[in-house]
Amino acid sequence: MVVKIAAASINHLDSHCRKGVRTPDYYWPRGPSPLPHIPGIDGAGTVVAVGPGVTRLREGDRVVLFCTRGCGACEHCFQGNPALCRDVYIVGRDCNGTYAEFVTAREDHWVPLPESIGFETAAAVPGIYTWAWAAVRKAGLRVGSTVLVPRVNGGVSAAVIQLAKLHGATVFATAEMELMAQRATELGADAVLPLEGFAAELRERTGGRGVDAVFDHVALDWPQLLASLRSAGTLVTWGATGRQMPVERLEQLFYREVIVRGTSTGSSDEFREVLALVRSGRLSPIIDGKIHLSGAADASHRAEGISSFGKILLIP
Ligand SMILES: [Zn+2]
Repeated sequence: MVVKIAAASINHLDSHCRKGVRTPDYYWPRGPSPLPHIPGIDGAGTVVAVGPGVTRLREGDRVVLFCTRGCGACEHCFQGNPALCRDVYIVGRDCNGTYAEFVTAREDHWVPLPESIGFETAAAVPGIYTWAWAAVRKAGLRVGSTVLVPRVNGGVSAAVIQLAKLHGATVFATAEMELMAQRATELGADAVLPLEGFAAELRERTGGRGVDAVFDHVALDWPQLLASLRSAGTLVTWGATGRQMPVERLEQLFYREVIVRGTSTGSSDEFREVLALVRSGRLSPIIDGKIHLSGAADASHRAEGISSFGKILLIP
């Protein structure tokens, strides 16, 4: 199926592919992206040509890409989570992606896009928001839950704040920069706490109990994060650049029955659910700006900058 791209957006995975960052073979068994390579895992547009095997979509349909596909036959694929499939295949990583005017990909990568969602909005949703939604769901939030989102940045963690607020949660955050603290507050964070001593303050603010869930993307504060959690609370993790794992605090995991959940890209069902939230008007993806496709190199550097907040769109 060939889709004329109306808008694409930049993700961290794109720069990982560009820089040749090695990933363990058990996660991505296909090895590095083939070269020459066109990056881009997020995009939306209009179907302009279909092959003989295409049965569900037709020319003229508006669609958005779900980049991940599995073998279709293993336990994870049956549960709708191709990201865990040993044969996972990612458009924009394992073949050319969406930094392009036209993209060719199998029909099962494309999700119909309702008229009420614009192409630019749609292109900002899959990578970040499916990930964030998967993280929030794993924490089992309920109305009145309390959560901590440490070291908010302009990516998945900001989206987690939006989605946790949609669940009726009270959201605490920490931030490394004043800009990020401001943005977290604008997104609905109830309080942004200082990095120094936030666990003690959270304990005080929750009557000594601790928060129900922590959403960590850095792995720099685990001793404090564990001290912030209530007993039998959930720590959801999807990043480890800080590499400070709490080996000396392992007793907190079992004595306090803490649940640690890893999360990654999210399932196709979670993508459809988050798209439904956008369609209903309850969720608006954060967009940092849009740039013509010819400026993709500059846009990629901007997206990697520490003050980038939200999605940068590429328009062909
Ligand atoms: Zn599979």
